[in-house]
Amino acid sequence: MSDSKVMTIRCKKCNQKVFRYLKEGKGSLLRAYKSKIQVVYFEVLDNQMVCKCGHRLAIDQGTYFKMLDHYHYD
Ligand SMILES: [Zn+2]
Repeated sequence: MSDSKVMTIRCKKCNQKVFRYLKEGKGSLLRAYKSKIQVVYFEVLDNQMVCKCGHRLAIDQGTYFKMLDHYHYD
């Protein structure tokens, strides 16, 4: 039995959609693996994930983004 589901991550500053992500289990999102990102709304500038409003969301670490804020799942 799998409890993975696709979640929509929103910017903490402007509340716009940032990406959709296939998340397994509960807890906060600390690492967003690129292979699990389903839909992209953000831009990558200088190895940083940036919302359209300009808010920095994460650092590009190669295979994943290290999230700067804590994104919780219910
Ligand atoms: Zn934003």
